Amino acid sequence: MKGSSKTHLRIVFTLGIIVLSIYESSSQFLNDEFCGNKEVLTLDYRKKPWKGKNQFLLDYLKKIDYKDNIDSVRFRIPVKFWIYRNDDGSGGVTDERVKVFMDSLNHFHKLNNTGFRFYIREIESVNKTKRLNLGYFVEAPLQTIFNHTKACVNIYVCDFIKKKANGATYVVRGTYNIVTKSVMLQRNTSSTGLTHEIGHYFGLLHPHRNYKSGKNKQESVSRTRAYKGSLKKGLICERNGDGLADTPAEPRLNFLVDNNCNFSGQALTDNWGDHYQSETNNIMSYPTHYKCRNNFTLSQKSVMLYKASENKYAKYWNTKDSANKIYHFDIHEPDNTVKMASIIKSNEKQNHTFHKIFTTGKKGLATDKTDWLKFELNTENTSNILIKFTPDKIVNDEITITIYDEDNKLIKTINTSKQIASSQIQLKTLKSGWYFIEINKKQSVSKKLYNYSVELIIE
Ligand SMILES: [Zn+2]
Repeated sequence: MKGSSKTHLRIVFTLGIIVLSIYESSSQFLNDEFCGNKEVLTLDYRKKPWKGKNQFLLDYLKKIDYKDNIDSVRFRIPVKFWIYRNDDGSGGVTDERVKVFMDSLNHFHKLNNTGFRFYIREIESVNKTKRLNLGYFVEAPLQTIFNHTKACVNIYVCDFIKKKANGATYVVRGTYNIVTKSVMLQRNTSSTGLTHEIGHYFGLLHPHRNYKSGKNKQESVSRTRAYKGSLKKGLICERNGDGLADTPAEPRLNFLVDNNCNFSGQALTDNWGDHYQSETNNIMSYPTHYKCRNNFTLSQKSVMLYKASENKYAKYWNTKDSANKIYHFDIHEPDNTVKMASIIKSNEKQNHTFHKIFTTGKKGLATDKTDWLKFELNTENTSNILIKFTPDKIVNDEITITIYDEDNKLIKTINTSKQIASSQIQLKTLKSGWYFIEINKKQSVSKKLYNYSVELIIE
């Protein structure tokens, strides 16, 4: 009985999503589609306390003691990748490319001092050749329902997302489904593609939203123009478009930005006759050249921080929560597979962590068990090479450190157990090439080791 009502709910939910997807698309501009996110439907827009009152966002930043010039990490957000591959497991996006996605995402958040960092919780393959190319309206939303993990940002990477409309097929490089709160990317997306879609996840809209609409919905160029009617009050720029006063009004920028990232649409005017003076660097915009995108405004950062704080899993993400303080953030993540190995240079000491993986329900917290590093020898090395492993405190745990050469041949392995203070591996007479270090924690023994350092000494 319980099961059948669950199934029933799922069917209703699924149908709802398909209907919503189709409804939303009817008002889309289909030429040169970049991001499939909806221009029109914003389910929770009315609930936004900053609508018509952006001061809310500035007050919020003050309340949380946010400093725009300090890189202070407030949220560490786990993401889960679902990689679409052939039936036999071949094809699909590579681990190297996933690392590029993650590095770019963290780069743009660090650059803007957003207070966010992201790490991979898990990568799961979906081996179905027929799903390598997903239809935008039905297949893609359905995949985000069938494959979904709680408490993290779900990211689906397929070969192509195809959208058929008005007799033509368009390719959508990335999309955000507001109903299932899921990000879908094509393998081949821009360096800011993931950052843009995750911007939607944390409540951001396109600055050009409704730019083709009438006075009722279009954002005005003027920052002081206000509605004076009895129904609508307040600044137009804080209600229409993306509802943020510090992102200038803009048309869709995809043909209006030159090679040097200058805006070339000054001749265009809004419904009140004012000429557009748009920026071209906003990560939520669609400039002609993606290289121009690198910026989040203060209000956008406030929206993201506010939305994250309201999320029901915020407790697990918030670095201020004492339970999460034991984990130091690791800039070398993701490094869970050999293909994601982080480079360590000669005489460098790096801080790493077996970062947190949390599961909802009874299982509680767990940690990522494996980290990979790599180093390169340009010439044959006849002297000593030392790899030092040091946990940040003495713990009861069991660690295996293994070295492989670039042909995957085992060079050396050591096992530590009980009361590790530090361990080291000595290597001698290695030929030139890449070497890979696998650091593996035996999770069942203890979950107490989280943070450690690795030092590479080449004499
Ligand atoms: Zn978008």
